Amino acid sequence: MKYYSTNGNTPDVSLQTAVVKGLAADRGLFMPERIPLLPKAFFNNIGEMSLQDISYVVANTLFGDDIESATLKDIVYETLNFDIPLKHVADNKYSLELFHGPTLAFKDVGARFMARLLGYFNKQQNGNGGMVNVLVATSGDTGSAVANGFLGVPGVRVFVLYPKGKVSLIQEAQFTTLGKNITAIEVDGTFDDCQALVKSAFMDEELNAHMMLTSANSINVARFLPQMFYYFYAYAQLLKQGKDVSNIVVSVPSGNFGNITAGLIGKRMGLPIKRFIAANNRNDIFFQYLNTGVYTPKPSVATIANAMDVGDPSNFARVLDLYKHSHEAICAEISGCTYTDEQIGETMAKTYKETGYLLDPHGAVAYRSLEEGLAENETGIFLETAHPAKFKSTVDAIIGEDIEIPAKLAAFMQGDKQTVEMGSGFASFKKFLMSV
Ligand SMILES: *Cc1c(COP(=O)(O)O)cnc(C)c1O
Repeated sequence: MKYYSTNGNTPDVSLQTAVVKGLAADRGLFMPERIPLLPKAFFNNIGEMSLQDISYVVANTLFGDDIESATLKDIVYETLNFDIPLKHVADNKYSLELFHGPTLAFKDVGARFMARLLGYFNKQQNGNGGMVNVLVATSGDTGSAVANGFLGVPGVRVFVLYPKGKVSLIQEAQFTTLGKNITAIEVDGTFDDCQALVKSAFMDEELNAHMMLTSANSINVARFLPQMFYYFYAYAQLLKQGKDVSNIVVSVPSGNFGNITAGLIGKRMGLPIKRFIAANNRNDIFFQYLNTGVYTPKPSVATIANAMDVGDPSNFARVLDLYKHSHEAICAEISGCTYTDEQIGETMAKTYKETGYLLDPHGAVAYRSLEEGLAENETGIFLETAHPAKFKSTVDAIIGEDIEIPAKLAAFMQGDKQTVEMGSGFASFKKFLMSV
């Protein structure tokens, strides 16, 4: 399968090139040239299949021409060595718990898949001697998922750029204490500054001649596409639990819009989801776009759902591309919402009190959108994208309890923080990379 650029000014490339390059030469995002339809028979059996088996079928349909099946199967099975259960919360509303991986957030899925695929391609291309440098900008969870996904993978070095003082201590500990092939760079600026540094690095000819650079942000097809696996698994679990699957609505807490875009492609492959909700915090550029038809990026503002504090979502280009730039077509399948920190907190407190289910601030945005917008004949699934303990101080203050930190998370807090401090200008970042 070939991959084209959403900007359309550069030739199509192979999966390997799309994964290694991350961003197209014309600064567009890669998209698969075809979106294959899965056979009906697959959906008849899906309720009896495991997460790994479902994911392998979906992966093989997308990547089967490019990777031999035994290797692809290993990659999928190693990536998904944890469960993604669908839990009933209230009435016709279900939580897809994406936080059972090593860093307790959904980004583990894409990061683990990409690390293994990149390791495989690098070995094919360069044998055991080659070195790929992964640059990743994070507003919190990406950095930890990518760093842990790549930790110890031979032939790959990871540089994590994060905005100083703008991620939680627990998030920070997950990528600043690892050592080995992982370097954390503490940028005096915002997440958008970090993302701009990474983008500039990819466009810098001298730097690219000096070292092989690639991205692990949600723009990379190897991170973004595997996120569709669990939408299929959510459907399978509803079926298995004997629930109504005729009008499924999925609400996705959205920042850079990689997660929801993967779901949209899953629908194109035949997954029977009726409609999507793109749930926003106060960084509601997409919500404004739905309302007005005009896309106006803005500097991000800090919220308690900080992994969604994105002022110019990269994957918006993919959404536009999927719907051939038709605002009408986009509005027919996706609705939006926007909530303040107060509303997010209120939803967490109320849901915990009434149902016993503890939402994290990101999942709470999506859950509230179901509470407000789900019809009686619909079945709502929201993506619970991170474990609440990742935002412990926020969550504790809201529910008035001292919530337990899972052992997996507590282990990160034991390590020593090691970072490289950096300003937000490109010159110093380039100098640093040239010297490593
Ligand atoms: C990254 C992240 C999001 C946003 O996902 P996108 O794919 O960028 O839209 C939501 N919730 C959590 C916990 C995240 O880490």
